[in-house]
Amino acid sequence: MPRRRVARPAPAPLRSPPEQHEHKADGEWLVRTTRGSSTKDYRCPGCAQLIARGRAHVVAWPAEKALLSEAAIDDRRHWHTACWARKH
Ligand SMILES: [Zn+2]
Repeated sequence: MPRRRVARPAPAPLRSPPEQHEHKADGEWLVRTTRGSSTKDYRCPGCAQLIARGRAHVVAWPAEKALLSEAAIDDRRHWHTACWARKH
């Protein structure tokens, strides 16, 4: 049997880490850290305080909804990193 050449190169590693899967008391979440380059203010559901623009924080959305689907975008929440870590 002739040796097969692997024509396809290995997939390049992603530049940014993929979202993490996290289990909380209210279900499965996909979580990603963002640098917060947005010009929008977000209110953290954990402490009800605004997240300062440009501050790295956590974006979380329900895992059962496909990324970038309208439902997922509607349900995305921006959390302070520390508040998300405290969430159960
Ligand atoms: Zn917070």
